[in-house]
Amino acid sequence: MNVKPSHLFYQGRERKPVLDQARGVYMWDVDGKRYLDGSSGAMVCNIGHSNENVLEAMRRQMEKSTFGYRLHFETEASEKLAAKTAALCPEGLNRVFFVSGGSEAVESALKLARQYALAIGEGSRWKIISRAPSYHGCTLGALAVTSYAPLTEPFAPLMQAMPKIPAPRAYLDGFDPEDEATGHHYADMLEAKIVEEGPDSVLAFLVEPIGGASTGALVPPRGYMERVQEICRKHGVLLILDEVMTGAGRTGKFLASEHWGLAPDIIVMSKGFAAGYVPLGAMVAHERLVEAVLDAGGFLHGYTYAGNPLACAAGLAVIDEIERQDLVGNAARMGVKLKERLEGLMQRYAIIGDVRGKGLLTAFEFMADRGSKAPLPKHLQAFNRFVQIAYDKGLIVYSRRTRDGVEGDHIIVAPPMIVTETHLDEITEVLDASLSQFTEEIRP
Ligand code: PLP
Repeated sequence: MNVKPSHLFYQGRERKPVLDQARGVYMWDVDGKRYLDGSSGAMVCNIGHSNENVLEAMRRQMEKSTFGYRLHFETEASEKLAAKTAALCPEGLNRVFFVSGGSEAVESALKLARQYALAIGEGSRWKIISRAPSYHGCTLGALAVTSYAPLTEPFAPLMQAMPKIPAPRAYLDGFDPEDEATGHHYADMLEAKIVEEGPDSVLAFLVEPIGGASTGALVPPRGYMERVQEICRKHGVLLILDEVMTGAGRTGKFLASEHWGLAPDIIVMSKGFAAGYVPLGAMVAHERLVEAVLDAGGFLHGYTYAGNPLACAAGLAVIDEIERQDLVGNAARMGVKLKERLEGLMQRYAIIGDVRGKGLLTAFEFMADRGSKAPLPKHLQAFNRFVQIAYDKGLIVYSRRTRDGVEGDHIIVAPPMIVTETHLDEITEVLDASLSQFTEEIRP
């Protein structure tokens, strides 16, 4: 079908097939071609497409109301979802601020942290330390704490880039990720950065507990997250966890931070939180922060669509489905099997230099040479080309450049949490055929 011309320019001038329907883990374009959604969109559609219980909850809410401005009304849906979310978060993190996406959630967290510092008389603190590479959203505030050169550099004069420390990529640096000394080595870089910047000027450390798009399912080395938390406490620096991608069960726990029993000050979520049924995100803050800000006059922030009742009803139904079907457990179980399959492919394809991930957030990284960790030559555009090959064969996977967006290529495999072993077989089969074709294509 001819899909040109279009008024859309998400992909420059490139046109994609037109989506017709999606059910479970599959999607169909208007020409009837079927795709297995091996990346849940952008790690969003965690409970699969067109879940009937969620659609029914949305229909029921639509019959009642689809909008109530947050300064005029509370709604049953937003109250219930806030209570449910708080119950799933660590103790004390029980104040919920709804937004419509990940970037908005990150912006909200940065502003709440800043207002908290002002409220407690620590207005000298304003720097947010984050990691390189990292991705925290596309708005200018979120870009200031993001380190991904192609996305940040063009906007550099418009935003104040914040301090960064290296992401703990033990596999590239030649350290053993299972050794606690490795985790401490990387975490101690945070302390060094806090001291370098001046502890009284540092407001927060923002971190994805398990890396997403920028680092490709990077699981921190043993001891890293616990030590990071300790360092933040020691210096009065707030710990903000970006669980936009990892939240809502994807890594085999409802929150990835549960893997290490963390007690952060703020958590942000989106993506799987409403699983693609509606735009929704949440900033969940410790009551201590929120009470201080409210006592000082209130949070100077908010979006028109925040707490939208339809979005909240969908979010609530998504969490109900996650619990009813034990999808967090399934993500943990299927994640182990998926990673084993990727490791199997690594044994057969020399261009796979690393396999990593937790639960159903997994990735493999291409390398020209496993010994030196050299990336594939940049001109091959492996991250784009491989995704296209798999797409043509009916499998959707997600890719980015690994090394601050400049070179290196990783492929994220993160199917919906309803995935079965049969689906994993299908994914592995297409990956195998795609790797074989790609290896052939790049053979000198
Ligand atoms: N934070 C993380 C970890 C993300 O992966 C993303 C999106 O990919 C964002 C923030 C931004 O979310 P959104 O695209 O919904 O604004």
